[in-house]
Amino acid sequence: MKVFELTTNFWKNPIKGFPKPLKMVTRKELWYVLFLGTALLFYVFQRILGNTTQQLEDNTLLMSNYNEQLKTNEVFTNKDSLIARKEREKLILAIEEKIVGHLYQIPDYSYITSLYPYLEYAPDLLAQIPSAVPLENGDYNLSSTYGHRLHPISKEVKKHYGIDLAAPMDKPVYASASGIVLKVIDSQKGYGTHIVLKHRFGFQTLYGHLNKVLVTKGQKVEQHELIATVGNTGASTGYHLHYEIIKNGLKINPIQSLDLKRNIYLRLMALNPRTKIKKNGKDR
Ligand SMILES: [Zn+2]
Repeated sequence: MKVFELTTNFWKNPIKGFPKPLKMVTRKELWYVLFLGTALLFYVFQRILGNTTQQLEDNTLLMSNYNEQLKTNEVFTNKDSLIARKEREKLILAIEEKIVGHLYQIPDYSYITSLYPYLEYAPDLLAQIPSAVPLENGDYNLSSTYGHRLHPISKEVKKHYGIDLAAPMDKPVYASASGIVLKVIDSQKGYGTHIVLKHRFGFQTLYGHLNKVLVTKGQKVEQHELIATVGNTGASTGYHLHYEIIKNGLKINPIQSLDLKRNIYLRLMALNPRTKIKKNGKDR
């Protein structure tokens, strides 16, 4: 009761000047508060953004240093010295501690080249990263690249957020990395019948204009697993697969991803001719 009386008294006889009822706040004061609020928000945002960019740069430098060391150490390891081997184990451990965070952080494939020496050591990691063509070799032609182009239907210059792989009807479409089926959408417009897969490290892949869908939402898929067939559904002028890679919410250029796994395995095979590429558990 006392509290209630106090509050009502307070509102009836406010202390001079404080708190001011809202209608007494002048427009100038309101603008001032709004300005301060915006400035504060802007400052906080800048700090977060600045920190992440700095962190990404620092980590990139650190990782390429590790990988350079790993590369030179590889030469020594062949001579099988105990010190070199110990040194190498230490390096691998240091990289393993950093690599997951780093793979989440990187915005696109340009950062992956410096990781080649480590990926040669741990090629299985490539199954978690979109790193292969989603179609069978010899089934397709790259008919449109990522970037600005004249849209084939609207005839306007628009950004193309993926690549187009022209292929005959019902050619198999494979998951370019292991993950789960996030969306299966049937549509007459845009991407037509399409699938979105969610992978590790903030990656997603989109497969558009499909004919048949062979997976369901929520299903787990392995890299190179058959998920659909090539079609001509939605805004499409011929049988092709529209393929997109999304990294941390942004659509990025998939072109460097197409040969990523192949390149690593070619390097591995050059080092050790007995290396075999695993595909769906079978040798490719
Ligand atoms: Zn396309």
